[in-house]
Amino acid sequence: MTAAPEPPFTLITTLLPGPDRKRTPAPYHFRVTYRNPDPADCGCVATWEVRGGREEYQVALERPAPGELVWHCSCPDAVYHEDYRNAHHCKHVQGLVGVFETIGNPVRRRAG
Ligand SMILES: [Zn+2]
Repeated sequence: MTAAPEPPFTLITTLLPGPDRKRTPAPYHFRVTYRNPDPADCGCVATWEVRGGREEYQVALERPAPGELVWHCSCPDAVYHEDYRNAHHCKHVQGLVGVFETIGNPVRRRAG
């Protein structure tokens, strides 16, 4: 067993509907707190810490089986939509997925 390489420092900033009543777009910061060194592994793929709203939340990407991906978020919206299995209705997960679709790879992104 060799030590896994340190995950690269990764910070993603994106605009999401803010926490106020008008949902004014506000910058949200996603910082990678864990990254599985083998992205094809089943289990937890990566976790992020989300800042920018009233509270700090945790987003996690899980691979329960090959070819399957499940998103989790600790915010109240994601819990409310628990029935959907994926927390894809929560703005944090939507924001993160949107960024990935744009840049293709979560590792390379200039902050700001
Ligand atoms: Zn969320």
